[in-house]
Amino acid sequence: MAKPGETCSFCGRGRRDVGLLINGMSGAICDECSARAYEIVQENEQSKPKSTFRLSQQDLPKPEDIKMFLDQYIIGQDDAKRYLSVSVYNHYKRLLQRVSSDDVEIEKSNIIMVGATGTGKTLLARTIAKFLHVPFTIVDATVLTEAGYVGEDIESILTRLLQAADYDVEAAQRGIVFIDEIDKIARKGDNPSITRDVSGEGVQQGLLKLLEGSIVNVPPQGGRKHPEQKLIPVDTKNILFVCGGAFDGIEKKIAQRLNTRVVGYAASKSTDLVDRSNLLKYITPTDLKSFGLIPEIIGRLPILTYLNPLDKEALRNILTEPKNSIIKQYVKLFAMDNIKLTFEEAVFEFIVNKALEFKLGARGLRSIVEAIMMDAMFSMPSQKEKKLHVTLKYAEEKFGKSDVNRLQVA
Ligand code: ADP
Repeated sequence: MAKPGETCSFCGRGRRDVGLLINGMSGAICDECSARAYEIVQENEQSKPKSTFRLSQQDLPKPEDIKMFLDQYIIGQDDAKRYLSVSVYNHYKRLLQRVSSDDVEIEKSNIIMVGATGTGKTLLARTIAKFLHVPFTIVDATVLTEAGYVGEDIESILTRLLQAADYDVEAAQRGIVFIDEIDKIARKGDNPSITRDVSGEGVQQGLLKLLEGSIVNVPPQGGRKHPEQKLIPVDTKNILFVCGGAFDGIEKKIAQRLNTRVVGYAASKSTDLVDRSNLLKYITPTDLKSFGLIPEIIGRLPILTYLNPLDKEALRNILTEPKNSIIKQYVKLFAMDNIKLTFEEAVFEFIVNKALEFKLGARGLRSIVEAIMMDAMFSMPSQKEKKLHVTLKYAEEKFGKSDVNRLQVA
């Protein structure tokens, strides 16, 4: 019989039959068996739920921490940031709550954000999800239709969340869903029975099921449900829904409400204090109802907040201040070719003015910078020159050459 340490304790082959034999305290393992053992360990690791999506009470960030994080990426929008930070914090506290004897159960607080397009609604939701390491998905409400019609079924929202969670159902059940353009599924008219409203009230009813918290059978690959497809049950009770919409024209309804309120003896000085340039700050659930959201949906979105329109100063700050601001990204792109990129201060003002002139908002900033930088990005990597200082004259010339109509709002 072979001496201990002379054969592999796993496959039994002798030292001479293997490449390498590693001795342990009371046995040995050959190179092939150790490689196989490594593979088994790896497979086992991969089949475990992703730990990146886990959350515990001690690493639950406080609302002020959340807001501080948001401040690094998003300019202004203080009210929205505070509302979001508090409701996300409460949401996760609720997830961590133990069943107690006092019968107090913290209810879910889904959020609705109202604000013009390009003011940072998606960015806020995306940044929060990044901070919390939870699965996050964005869906556009305009593609949703009532089951059976052309478009996507409501369940497709959860398919995307599952995909974002790498099919870790437990993680998906604690994720965040951002539903964009929620205003587009508002009821079209006051009388919904005249014509079938497949993309309006019907969708709102479908959505209600998700917001309320229920077990939904989700087709894992998306698309229409068909009999052969195995469905995954997903409980939406603990999924946080953040909705966003521009609600074009809602200011009129707010103004009307504010005006009617001041008729009568209660008409007070308060109307003088109304900031007419930003009526959204006075938004209430009643306004959402007059816009065409059904009361049940509004009831399931108890946190209502708004975003300010971006003024010149905000746009200017967006260019350079956020942690991954557009300008910082270009500087990095050039630095990768060892080119030092700098800008004359006046260039920023020029970019902001163009964004305002063409009504492109924050989304247009990138396309304008792109138009200015295109020539340099094309030729400089192959040139000897390792410095570029973008002056106002340079920016005006390059921008003038570009086709303004092609500026895309990304
Ligand atoms: P919305 O969802 O409100 O339509 P987004 O969040 O998609 O707008 O914003 C579009 C882009 O504009 C973002 O990716 C970001 O680059 C920029 N942006 C908009 N608002 C802000 C802001 N307040 N701070 C920083 N960047 C912003």
